Amino acid sequence: MPVKITPKTVNTDFIKKLEELSGQNIHLCMQCGTCSASCPMSENMEFTPRKVMHLAQFGLEEGLEDVNTCKVCASCHSCTVRCPRGIDIARVMEALRQMILRKNINFVEPSKIPAETIKELPPIALIAGFRKLTS
Ligand code: SF4
Ligand code: SF4
Repeated sequence: MPVKITPKTVNTDFIKKLEELSGQNIHLCMQCGTCSASCPMSENMEFTPRKVMHLAQFGLEEGLEDVNTCKVCASCHSCTVRCPRGIDIARVMEALRQMILRKNINFVEPSKIPAETIKELPPIALIAGFRKLTS
């Protein structure tokens, strides 16, 4: 998905909030791509972790909301332990997820999950999924 960068799209409040919530300085990222190469979920992501960091550096809030990266992130911390700049990318992903959920956007709608599927799933996985993916 192409994302146009114009002065109007750069949201400095978003960058500040993201850094506050994650406790990370996203401007330390030098776009080396180690996080993307380390990520076991990157094949299922619309944007890789490196690209998400790049968009975040420009404060492109809308672009980040529209892609599935922070929803698909499994919080495995592979990226975090390998980032040469010491950025805890898993925390950035968590902060992004929180910022979207706080807008009352659900990533899954529990009421739309078929009863048959609910019966099949382990309750602990369901609860963990709802905690992570619903507002
Ligand atoms: S590994 Fe760290 S420095 Fe490299 S692209 Fe990812 S966040 Fe940026
Ligand atoms: S924490 Fe998330 S983004 Fe980082 S490597 Fe694991 S799945 Fe990928």
